[in-house]
Amino acid sequence: VQLQGPPDPAHGDQAFGAGDVPPLSYAELSELPVQDLAQTVGAQYDVPADLILALGWVSTSLSPVDESHGECAPVNGWMGLRPAQLQEATALTGLSPEAIATEQAAALLGAAALLAARREELSPGASGQLADARWWSVIEHWPALGEAWLNQEFALAVFEVLQRGLEVRDANDALVVIDARELPGLADILLLPAPTEGAARESALHGYPGAHRFVAASPSNYSNRSAGLDSINKVVIHTTEGSYSGSIGWFRNSSSGVAAHYVVRKSDGEITQMVSDERRAWHAGSANARSIGIEHEGAAANSSTWTVPILESSARLSAWLSSSYDIPVDRTHFIGHSEVAGSSRSDPGPHFPWDHYIELVKCYRYGGSYCNGVDGGGADAPGSGSSGPGPGSSSGESAGCSGSSCGDGGPHGWGAGSDGPGSPGEAWVSFVEPRTGDPVANPVALRAERMGGPWIEFWAGAFRVGSATTDNPADETAHFFLTGTRTLSVRLHSSGGVLLDIDTISVDVRSERGEMTVYASPMTELTWRFSADVSDVTRPVEFVTYSVDGTAIGDDSSGDLRVTGAGFALTHSFDSPAAGSILVARAFDADSRLLASDTAILDGEGELVPQCALVGDLGCGDRIPGNTSLAPDASNRLDAYPDLPGNYSGPELGYQLDVSGAAEVEIRLVDPHPYIVNHDLVLLDAASGLCLADSYLQVGFNSLEFEPEPGRSYILVVDGYAGDAGAFELEVECR
Ligand SMILES: [Zn+2]
Repeated sequence: VQLQGPPDPAHGDQAFGAGDVPPLSYAELSELPVQDLAQTVGAQYDVPADLILALGWVSTSLSPVDESHGECAPVNGWMGLRPAQLQEATALTGLSPEAIATEQAAALLGAAALLAARREELSPGASGQLADARWWSVIEHWPALGEAWLNQEFALAVFEVLQRGLEVRDANDALVVIDARELPGLADILLLPAPTEGAARESALHGYPGAHRFVAASPSNYSNRSAGLDSINKVVIHTTEGSYSGSIGWFRNSSSGVAAHYVVRKSDGEITQMVSDERRAWHAGSANARSIGIEHEGAAANSSTWTVPILESSARLSAWLSSSYDIPVDRTHFIGHSEVAGSSRSDPGPHFPWDHYIELVKCYRYGGSYCNGVDGGGADAPGSGSSGPGPGSSSGESAGCSGSSCGDGGPHGWGAGSDGPGSPGEAWVSFVEPRTGDPVANPVALRAERMGGPWIEFWAGAFRVGSATTDNPADETAHFFLTGTRTLSVRLHSSGGVLLDIDTISVDVRSERGEMTVYASPMTELTWRFSADVSDVTRPVEFVTYSVDGTAIGDDSSGDLRVTGAGFALTHSFDSPAAGSILVARAFDADSRLLASDTAILDGEGELVPQCALVGDLGCGDRIPGNTSLAPDASNRLDAYPDLPGNYSGPELGYQLDVSGAAEVEIRLVDPHPYIVNHDLVLLDAASGLCLADSYLQVGFNSLEFEPEPGRSYILVVDGYAGDAGAFELEVECR
């Protein structure tokens, strides 16, 4: 339905709605709580209601915002429309710009009309019923923040809401619920990294080591702190009155004349530092010279802004600031922007929970009894309470340091003051599999571990892998439609949802050209035998590598990590039981290009000793018939055994061989069968009791001869050659 009619105030006699619902007047529409309003407006423009709500939550925290606030790229109204969007929405809906900028119903109508218009241009097939990956390009083009990576971060935030779900209230105290769901197709979005220009220089100065990243503000928006770090004696609390990415973009805009040191995100407490503490960021007029500014993504008008993650994460930052600069934890030294002398601003507003915040900061700074009764001061909070690495401890948690989050130069460990409470800059979570630089096969088996925090999330591109968070160690599989460079990230969260750490890697996802099957047999609880069967590869396989839970393993006898030869078999002993671990085998060509891979879970619950399928006894002078395809107890134990030509993937039958007293033994397949069905004869040492390929003594095609050793017992296996199987006749001649 395209709206007709003159602009405000005549919208009173227009009809709104679509489908089976009776049309509503604008006055009736304005009475609807926001969830119903989004449904009605969405139906009218064939735009998903949950997309409108998620967009509103990310853009304005579902509050009426005003571009004059100036701490975010200029946006207006309940949907945070840019001036250009406001103008276009006016043309599309016939509503007045004043109504769209101030009234909730008009704002949602305007946003829905804009979404529908952008859908026609960018993604004509996108569904009006349910937001899906086809809406990505529409949302990516929505905020026009001037930098492609920031537009992507904005879109990702909206799609995070859809994938994680939401239960909040708008500034009218009306409930908004979005059910979490999977959004396939987002994994293939290649997310651009945040820019690094200026960050290395500025982040080398003093700053919070627990910040998740440093994205440099424009040098036009800060100046030198001439009195030095010692002059810092206040922390000023702000709200962005817009989106997280909108503030980051605004502080990077050289014409804004505004920047804060830190920006904190409401969904998970992610902290972006933008100005070094040694600089005077321009955030609070007369207070700039002696303060640190913290921007909180949110709106002063909505109490839902103050999520557990944003408060906990900000309080940790404030505790570190308090400790580093000797700032007393009280309401004289922690103030709101509205409390700065000469300020005309109202942030952080009446809903900011000052008492709780001050308690949290004390808990994170001092620990112990200061954490008594403080929600969010739990044991998994780094630097809090007596159980965490509390104040004065600089050890933190470092045992999990591996992969790309190790060492310096990454997002962690920078800043001179990394010995703050709990050393929050230490690596707490990292990928175990894949590791940085690995070529990985599609689908990608993900595995991560952490040192603190109860849950882990994997993201592949803009797709939340799996439908829920995962225990530690975390295992998931990511599927991609397209191959090439892809972004993977793993996030560690506290019980309160606070982002404790994030590790991101780019991997080269390759299609599996060849077929590969990996075999794993436990010989004892600690010693396993691995082998692999590779076929349909376009180039010769030069070597195979194995890893267990991301750690490369080698052969016990040779120590080799690259296994060559038929069967690509190795025997490896573990220090602790490996059952339940993930085995990954990869086949490479001579240029180390990945040809194929396979993954298996090591199942220690099965029989520990793989027995041959022994179907009978065999002695001197015997001549017996058999059939490898018909025998119900034929096994495949010897598949892909090593050091032998060909690929012995057919079923096999085993016989206990009793040839004691003979000096020489000849065993042969009898005509005409060897020429109809290909079989091999494999002589095994029975002493181990194992039907294992590496206990073989000799192999023959059609026949074999050997000299039995006194007191030694043997097993003879008739094995289908290269998948072949069928009837045979066997003769044993002793001399
Ligand atoms: Zn402010």
